[in-house]
Amino acid sequence: MIDGLSSWVFICDVLDRMAATRYGVCMNQEFDLLVVGAGINGAGIARDAALRGLKVLLVDKGDIGGGTSAGSTRLIHGGLRYLEHFEFGLVRESLRERETLLRIAPHLVRPLPIVIPIYRDGGRGWPTIRAGMIAYDLLSWGKSLPRHRMLSARETLHRLPGLSGEGLVGSAIYYDAQVEFAERLVVENVLAAVECGATVLTYTRLTDFVIEEGLVAGVRLEGHKVDQFRGAVVINAAGPWVDRLLDETQIKSERLIGGTKGSHAVVAAFAGAPESAVYLEAVSDRRPFFIVPWNGNYLIGTTDVRFEGDPGEVRAEEWEIDYLLSETNRAFPSAELDRERVLYTYAGVRPLPFTTNHNERSITRRHFLREHPRFKNLVSVVGGKLTTYRSLAEECVDLVLRKLGKGFTGSETARVPLPGASDFHPSNPCERLSRIYGSRAKEVAELANRLNCDPLAAEIVFAFQNEFAKTLADCFLRRTMIGLNADLGLNELQAAAAVGRRFLSWTEDRARREVEGYKQETSNRNKYRSQT
Ligand SMILES: Cc1cc2nc3c(=O)[nH]c(=O)nc-3n(C[C@H](O)[C@H](O)[C@H](O)COP(=O)(O)OP(=O)(O)OC[C@H]3O[C@@H](n4cnc5c(N)ncnc54)[C@H](O)[C@@H]3O)c2cc1C
Repeated sequence: MIDGLSSWVFICDVLDRMAATRYGVCMNQEFDLLVVGAGINGAGIARDAALRGLKVLLVDKGDIGGGTSAGSTRLIHGGLRYLEHFEFGLVRESLRERETLLRIAPHLVRPLPIVIPIYRDGGRGWPTIRAGMIAYDLLSWGKSLPRHRMLSARETLHRLPGLSGEGLVGSAIYYDAQVEFAERLVVENVLAAVECGATVLTYTRLTDFVIEEGLVAGVRLEGHKVDQFRGAVVINAAGPWVDRLLDETQIKSERLIGGTKGSHAVVAAFAGAPESAVYLEAVSDRRPFFIVPWNGNYLIGTTDVRFEGDPGEVRAEEWEIDYLLSETNRAFPSAELDRERVLYTYAGVRPLPFTTNHNERSITRRHFLREHPRFKNLVSVVGGKLTTYRSLAEECVDLVLRKLGKGFTGSETARVPLPGASDFHPSNPCERLSRIYGSRAKEVAELANRLNCDPLAAEIVFAFQNEFAKTLADCFLRRTMIGLNADLGLNELQAAAAVGRRFLSWTEDRARREVEGYKQETSNRNKYRSQT
């Protein structure tokens, strides 16, 4: 609790002018809270705080959702595996949040049946899997999804005809959920925060803190001449960059994050490909991994290896992709996947709590809010999952309110639907626009009518005008999701540049730079394939 701290007064002409032009912000705006990092956690915190009436500034050095949140396996899950580490609290919290997200974001988060094959020589036998399934069902009391079922070997092969039958004892089928476009979940949290008055600045890196009387009294934001502001609470929600952010500023801290990298391969449907998601144990090292139908293709992942480099430079390595392909071929012998069949890859760094424990798998996936030992108004977010972002944000804003000494207002985020979920009727959930924008799809359709252009052109304009996209990469990879198509959206690039020229006043030079910038940003995703 910090006594005597009033709301921050943010006096930055340059910043205000920029914000005013871009987002309609008033001059001399006061902020209660600065959130650094517009990944799922920062976005969720900004939304929760704005809904509770706080004045929020959210900044990111890049685009909304451009960090780890775009590098995940996209499951909204209880974390069956965590039961092996007796993390019952985390599993219960995750299962409760799964239910909440199915309710507040039904256009983005959808139920996903998952099959776990059980093999005679596997590390987890029938009794273990059965016990895990019962515990999972018990911990998800009050859920809307069906309970698990155990299948015989014959029933399993009937359901998954391409699965290797050698040594197959049977399987378990259970339900979790998938957020096909995790990037959109982040964007919608930001949109919701902005609807409630939050200010968002993307491509604005926090470079330093201003310290006065033992408190953070301001920050320096890259690209601004006068960039100090005063206030009460700063949340460092920089994901795997949490330590870097502190190290690069004059604020030193003990190490908080011990990141591990996870990589994925995206492949087209293959011979014998499963119709539902499959949760398998790798034969080579007994690690669990998923093969998931995703966005018209298959997502295979993930690995889990210590990562000490710059999270911005993370990429799938050849050995990881070979590992994922060979384990998939082992489970589905007719698949015969090789490097040429990989459409693209992506990777991310899990912002896990730092530990000297060398077993990556056993590091907790729980989150922690770490108050800086010297500066009480600086709190870092450590860990967390996409699944539990909302409860993390609620906990974080409760703490912020206590620090501000403001009256307590309860969180509304479990009740209020995200923007695309208001009046959303999943009558045609497979329709592309509704899978991406939910009920806001009609705004895109109206824009297409108004501009007399095709829906894709309208989506591009919509991304820049209504969803804070600044570059073509933002637009393709984190708004329209065209960039996650099998061709990485490369076939649509020239058409998009033409849309920019026609509707967004791009010069020829800007259009050319956008196309080049996009190719550059996606080069590490298709590098693996082009090397073969
Ligand atoms: C391989 C993998 C698989 C995963 N699978 C799942 C899954 O299936 N289900 C699940 O629930 N969770 C999953 N997770 C976990 C989940 O993705 C992450 O925990 C979550 O996305 C972290 O979000 P974040 O907001 O903390 O970090 P990020 O999304 O990384 O956001 C941090 C932001 O901070 C910004 N930033 C950094 N430094 C600065 C600065 N100086 N100034 C301004 N901004 C800055 C960055 O640009 C970035 O946008 C997975 C993670 C990985 C890596």
